[in-house]
Amino acid sequence: MQATITYLLTEQAQRAQMAATGQPVARKQTMTIEISAEDLPLCTVGTDGGISLDATAARHWNALLAAGWHEAHPIEAPVFAPDVLADIRRGNGIQEAVRVDLLAAASAHVLNTPGISLSDMSCYVYVPKSLLRADQQSIAHKLTAVDASKWDTYGVYGRDLSGEAQAVLLARHKTAVEAWHAKQSAAVDFFFAHPALRLTVTYHNDLTISTTDTTAGNVTLTYGSPRYDELSAEAQRRNAADEASAKAAAAAKEALKTAAIDAFVAASGDGLLIQQHAEKLLCRKTVIARMADAALDACGLPAEYPDSTVCDDSDCPCGDRVVDCIPPAIYAAWKSFTLPEGSTVEFRRVRDCRSAADEEWEDNDDRATAEYYVAVVTIPSGPFQFTRRVRLG
Ligand SMILES: [Zn+2]
Repeated sequence: MQATITYLLTEQAQRAQMAATGQPVARKQTMTIEISAEDLPLCTVGTDGGISLDATAARHWNALLAAGWHEAHPIEAPVFAPDVLADIRRGNGIQEAVRVDLLAAASAHVLNTPGISLSDMSCYVYVPKSLLRADQQSIAHKLTAVDASKWDTYGVYGRDLSGEAQAVLLARHKTAVEAWHAKQSAAVDFFFAHPALRLTVTYHNDLTISTTDTTAGNVTLTYGSPRYDELSAEAQRRNAADEASAKAAAAAKEALKTAAIDAFVAASGDGLLIQQHAEKLLCRKTVIARMADAALDACGLPAEYPDSTVCDDSDCPCGDRVVDCIPPAIYAAWKSFTLPEGSTVEFRRVRDCRSAADEEWEDNDDRATAEYYVAVVTIPSGPFQFTRRVRLG
């Protein structure tokens, strides 16, 4: 059988052939060779039975490159009338040898590197490119089923490694998963042992346990983790219990307030007020304001003193500031009140602004009033707290 072979020459080979023959030589060359049946798979058979081999076709590119052809697009033969079939076979053999070397080196590397594990043999394992000699690396970069896109590592499929390497990769993965599940389980135990802990739910319903007083730090269980359901149920139970007790506390406080209001109205001796309250026509706000006045008056506190007036001008001497000490005379005024236990107070030193209301005061030395003190007093009264701002002295 005869086959028609098409190939391209390098410019150098073209020149050499022209020098040798004294004739023009085309870049694109065609030759007819005798082939045997075993060469057919490398060739293309046309519908008319014609046999051809296009050396510029992509399918032969890597083999011819490995055989020493010139890397170009399309690939070029470095000599005139090359033995294309032999070059393809030799190139395929070189590639196969590099593949075998790479996989053997990768298998050994995996066995010697405890940090590498793999759960799925259809995924890549990455190994250093330096496992191969430099001349092998240029071949390996073109191998199919090898990821050579990374700077210094090759990705090879787990399934292409030795059986021993695959078994070790799987076993390491299993050990890592078990260790991780053990850590999760310890965190879940920690959560159960600490009733005050609540859970942070992150994106995708992940549950993150903050094991604050252990070295584990934050441990996250994703949906489907072995103890996820158990943990989720307990976390929800705690949150629901919190909500229920908050509601109960609010209801109890509300009941106390209602009882205090009822008692205050009953004790007022005001028949009309008692009737209005009984008919539920008395505004709650009104009663509470009266209760506040009564409780605050009972402490001997003077009437509510109006809020201060201050401006934004930093040159103005006006101001209303919290102070942590007061003059003796002010203290004496303060001590004349009888406050119930649990009362709190904030003392303030005030100079009201005159220029804020009237611009004529702006250039006046007296643009702020003389300094005086107020106390903002908060007293507990049953379930209520009442506040009044009073002037001292
Ligand atoms: Zn001012």
